[in-house]
Amino acid sequence: MTIAAIIVAAGRGTRAGGDLPKQWQPLRGQAVVMHSLQTFATLPQIKRIVLVLHPDDLERARALVPASVTLVTGGASRDQSVRNALEALTDQAISRVLIHDGARPLVTHDLITRVIDALSTAQAAAPALPITDALWRGENMAVTGTAPRDGLWRAQTPQGFDFETILQAHRSHHTTDGQAADDVEVARAAGVDVRIVQGDERNIKVTWPGDFARAAEVLQRDAMDIRTGNGFDVHRFCAGDHVWLCGVKIPYARGLDGHSDADVGMHALTDAIYGALAEGDIGRHFPPSDPQWKGADSQIFLKHAVDRVAARGFVISNVDVTLICEQPKIGPHAAAMCAALAQIMGLEIGRISVKATTSERLGFTGREEGIAALATATIVSA
Ligand code: MG
Repeated sequence: MTIAAIIVAAGRGTRAGGDLPKQWQPLRGQAVVMHSLQTFATLPQIKRIVLVLHPDDLERARALVPASVTLVTGGASRDQSVRNALEALTDQAISRVLIHDGARPLVTHDLITRVIDALSTAQAAAPALPITDALWRGENMAVTGTAPRDGLWRAQTPQGFDFETILQAHRSHHTTDGQAADDVEVARAAGVDVRIVQGDERNIKVTWPGDFARAAEVLQRDAMDIRTGNGFDVHRFCAGDHVWLCGVKIPYARGLDGHSDADVGMHALTDAIYGALAEGDIGRHFPPSDPQWKGADSQIFLKHAVDRVAARGFVISNVDVTLICEQPKIGPHAAAMCAALAQIMGLEIGRISVKATTSERLGFTGREEGIAALATATIVSA
C-alpha cells in the first residue's frame, strides 16, 4: 500500500475566537494544524502529505510546513477542498488515502494505524465513538424531547479510503443538499461500505475557545517526563584538619582523601543528577586522570550536572542526600549544607534534603575509616 494523507485546513472557522482561523492559532507553541501534520509526517507508512488551505494562508504555511508537504488551495466548500487535494495526488500511484481534519491536533499514531490496518480488508474505514450520553431535544434552554441514542456514533478523522474509490466518489458527488459533513458521507453517497474503527476520546476537534485549553492540557501530559537517578560515593579519611561535605567546610581531626576536594556528599549528588539524565558519572565528565581536576572544588562538577539538566530541557524537582558516618556529627551542619547546595544549584531550599545516619559501628564507616554518601535526584521535563 502506498498511503497518502490529506489534512484539510481550508476553513475560516471563527467559533474558536481569536483573529486567526482556528487551525493557525497557537497551541503549546505551534499552530494547531502543525500538530497533526507532524503526527502524520512521523509515521513511516505515510508516503505523501497534502495540506489543503485557504489561499490567504498560503504564505503562512510556506514558512511553517516542510517542503515535502504538498500545499493545495481549497475550494468554496469542504467537498471541493478535498477534491482538489485528491486530484493533486492522481499521478502519485497512491493506493490508500487518509483524510484528516486539521482542527484535530491530538490524533495519535495508534489511531492512524488502526484506520490503516482496517483498510487492508475494507474499501473505507473511519474512527468513531459510540454515544453514551442521553440525547435530548431542547429549545430556549428547556428540554422538549428525548431521542434514542442506540446505534449512534460520534464520527472522527482520519477517514481512510481506497484512493480510486474516494476519488471517483468525490468526482461524482453533487452537493444538491448542501455540502457533505465529511468524506464518509461522500463515500456512502457513492454506495461504498464504510467500516467503523475504534475512535479515541482525546482526538477532539478544536471548535470552541475552551477546546484550546483542553488540547493544551493533553499535550502537556504527553510531554511530561519524570526521571530519577541515584548516586553513591565513598572517600577514606586521611591526615588533615577539616572535611568538605555538601559544600560546607567542617573542622575535624582528619581530612578526606581524594583527587578533588573529596566532597563525598556533593559527588553522590552530582552522580545522581547525571544518572537521571543517563549521562554517566563524574568520572566520565571530569576524568581523574586529568591533572586539571586535582584538588578541584566539587561545585564545578555539580554546576556542570545542573547545567546539563537545563540543556536537556528538564528542571530539578528535588534532591535528597544521605551521609553515612559516625564522625563528624552532621546534624548541626545539615541546614547550612542545604543552603550551600541551594545556592550552587540555583534551586529553592525546600527541594533539597541533607540528612545523615551511622552504620551502627559496623563496616568501614562504623570503624571510622571513611564517609559514604547516597543521593537521589528527580528531574521533570520543563
Ligand atoms: Mg568522589
